[in-house]
Amino acid sequence: MKRESVLAALGIEPISSGAYAGGWREGSGPSIESIDPTTEQPIGTVRMADAADYEAAVQASVDAFEQWRMVPAPQRGDYVRQIGNALREYKEPLGALVSMEVGKIRAEGEGEIQEMIDIADFAVGLSRQLYGLTIASERPRHRMFEQWQPLGPVGIISAFNFPAAVWSWNAFLAAVCGDSMIWKPSPVTPLTAVAIQNICHEVMEGSGFEGVFNLTVGDVDPVGAAMVDDPRLPLIAATGSVRMGRQVGTQVAKRLGRSLLELGGNNAIIVMDDADLDLAVRGALFAAAGTAGQRCTSLRRLIVHKDIADLLAKKLIAAYGQIPMGDPLEEGTLVGPLVSQSAVDNTKAALEIALEQGGELLAGGNEPDRQGFFLEPMLVKLPKDAPIAQQETFGPMMYFIEVDSFEEALAVNNGVPQGLSSAIFTDSIRTSERFLSAEGSDCGIANVNIGTSGAEIGGAFGGEKETGGGRQAGSDSWKAYMRRQTVTVNWSTDLPLAQGVEFG
Ligand code: NAD
Repeated sequence: MKRESVLAALGIEPISSGAYAGGWREGSGPSIESIDPTTEQPIGTVRMADAADYEAAVQASVDAFEQWRMVPAPQRGDYVRQIGNALREYKEPLGALVSMEVGKIRAEGEGEIQEMIDIADFAVGLSRQLYGLTIASERPRHRMFEQWQPLGPVGIISAFNFPAAVWSWNAFLAAVCGDSMIWKPSPVTPLTAVAIQNICHEVMEGSGFEGVFNLTVGDVDPVGAAMVDDPRLPLIAATGSVRMGRQVGTQVAKRLGRSLLELGGNNAIIVMDDADLDLAVRGALFAAAGTAGQRCTSLRRLIVHKDIADLLAKKLIAAYGQIPMGDPLEEGTLVGPLVSQSAVDNTKAALEIALEQGGELLAGGNEPDRQGFFLEPMLVKLPKDAPIAQQETFGPMMYFIEVDSFEEALAVNNGVPQGLSSAIFTDSIRTSERFLSAEGSDCGIANVNIGTSGAEIGGAFGGEKETGGGRQAGSDSWKAYMRRQTVTVNWSTDLPLAQGVEFG
């Protein structure tokens, strides 16, 4: 699909509104241009939401919630099923738009839409479950059970690097759970958000439930901060940097609201001396260089057993020399541009610090002489105690860290403030089970003979420590979008009290 035809295929005007409150509004905030990082040209313009648009969107979601919560969950699931079907129809142009706004390659752009479709299917199935427990009561002729009730309007804040899928992880689960929502996407990727909102509008228009999905494209001021402080939003589900999570988490806690935080990672793969090295090279390369290193699960640290370090470094240097970099929409490209020039500058600045701290650049690091925010993926040998390895650098840079033993590898893996994704390459069951044991990896995701990125939606996704502790997507993540209620029904003619208490 050609760049020129993407917006039209999605029904988006070159200048469009980023404010939806049960219906499209003008968008009265300042306009922003969305820039294609490959061409450095504007893709389109979005009029952002101002404070009045925000207020209208929250009010629409509050009003919609009152009706939506009483719709049987399987019927709510049917709306999500229709949105999933519409996404199937728009998969190609929507995937291309993600590639244009973020710079990820076509397969990953479309993969992100496939992830939305998968989570829609998952949510539809879930809408016939949302099950509670029945618990044995100690009192005769009493029944005790837990039930899950809709929570309320949910505030969803999303990051630039997954401008479509992360919203759907939250939105489709929240919708089947009976919640309405208001979405503040990253201002870096406003057009993807407008396109998705259009699809929701197409499905929900005329249903009377248009206010279930709302959108306010905007900056922290006036939109983000208002959401975080708004007691009408009992849950804020926020995806982004640790810096953002620190602000959002503490603000929401101040009003005793609930936050679901998916924050930065500093992910590692351990490669043991008994690993299949060709598998490890492939796993590491996709995890480190894929999406130009701009996934929360991107591989930052390769922790390598000393006995295979030289051989693995040689194989990696050869592989790094052959990564096809270029226009993400072109066939055969594996690495596209970074999202902005400042992302390139930040990554290069981190390289300088790594070199000052004893690092050695083994491969990559050139900025090709062409338009766009391109930077060759870099492999940097680093001493294990270099402080720069403690922080997440959101670009295509992988540190190669040599260790003497499994114990040391594990200490390096766990010795950072973040705890999102981790992996080990080994052919030893004993070593892999140690990695997966209570004294093993401390991360939310722990893989064996698979890289750190590319999670399936069926599992709960999220991380520990500074990554925020939230879980989104599969498994029982839906519980975050509901309130739990414990119910006891007395069907006897007496009034026995718990713990045998006699009263009068
Ligand atoms: P960011 O933190 O700059 O912004 C994320 C979102 O938060 C944006 O919509 C932004 O406008 C908003 N925001 C920032 N400060 C806010 C505040 N005080 N109040 C309300 N909203 C606020 O992150 P980014 O650069 O867009 O994305 C990259 C980061 O996101 C990386 O750190 C990456 O690891 C992380 N990320 C994590 C996950 C995960 O699931 N753990 C997924 C994707 C991205």
